[in-house]
Amino acid sequence: MAEDRRNHGPCDPREDLERITRSLRLRLEGEARAGLAAVRRARGIPAQATPAAASAAGAAAAGETEADAAVTDAQAAGTPDDAAPEPECEAEIRAAEAARRELAERAAQAKAAGRPGAAPVVHVKGPQLFDLNAADAGPGVSPEEALQRVAEEVAACPRCPELVASRTKTVPGQGSPYAKLMFIGEGPGQDEDLQGLAFVGRAGQLLSKMIESIGMTRDEVFIANIVKCRPPANRQPSPEEAANCRPFLMRQLSAIRPRIIVALGGVAAQNLLETHDGITRLRGRFYPFMGAKLMPTFHPAYLLRNYTPDVRKKVYDDLLKVKAELQA
Ligand code: URA
Repeated sequence: MAEDRRNHGPCDPREDLERITRSLRLRLEGEARAGLAAVRRARGIPAQATPAAASAAGAAAAGETEADAAVTDAQAAGTPDDAAPEPECEAEIRAAEAARRELAERAAQAKAAGRPGAAPVVHVKGPQLFDLNAADAGPGVSPEEALQRVAEEVAACPRCPELVASRTKTVPGQGSPYAKLMFIGEGPGQDEDLQGLAFVGRAGQLLSKMIESIGMTRDEVFIANIVKCRPPANRQPSPEEAANCRPFLMRQLSAIRPRIIVALGGVAAQNLLETHDGITRLRGRFYPFMGAKLMPTFHPAYLLRNYTPDVRKKVYDDLLKVKAELQA
């Protein structure tokens, strides 16, 4: 017997809303999973996971999945021959389609403005609001505010018991909310833990010189870390700690939308690119990441320990590529 979809089928707006809400709640509950999904979306893979991602320039499509799902499900369900389409359902579909068009237009504008693949944060009503950075989204939320919210949540974060027990201050990261260039290190050391600021110790002083070597200042860039709390005795953050902290970093990236990201050292590069390749292999070329270009290079602490002409030249070469790309 033919199913009566007029009131209860996938085209029923209430069911659509319930379904969307259910799936979004699940997504928000699993932050690690959401972080992973965000990265997948940002890289534009796989197409079937975020069907609109390809058309809307990768991460621009973040949050589109539900809108697409609403449209696709409704289309797949079709309209029974003997029943007029539900007007409310049509309104839902139209809204979802309009939102998708807006995302695509903004992605095209961002591309035309010289930010190829940049992920515009689109503040629209509807399912897109439930994106990973939902807490920061909404009309009138500036990058400053979004970053402030992240910093406040980091300060209260209980996720990594060992780090929480030993931290003095959390270190969310600092710099320009409008930075075109972002540096991401591994995790705070002792100086950073005491001051609540990223890269303020010896490695930080060298990082300042690296930034200045390409004609920029620390104020113009944003500096953050994979984890926002100091791992005891400066050990590397565990994969779980990095995963716990990842949503914060993703939200910072969503708010700032840098054109270029420099991953400082193997831990940063491996976590961001989700690879086990070493920094020696990874460094020196750009990788697409969240609508930006990611350049892995040696960590300044490594450079301090290996302050040879060869290592210095390699780091400088990497930075020159960054400079050239920023000027392109
Ligand atoms: N090393 C890092 O990776 N990050 C800092 O903030 C300081 C040292």
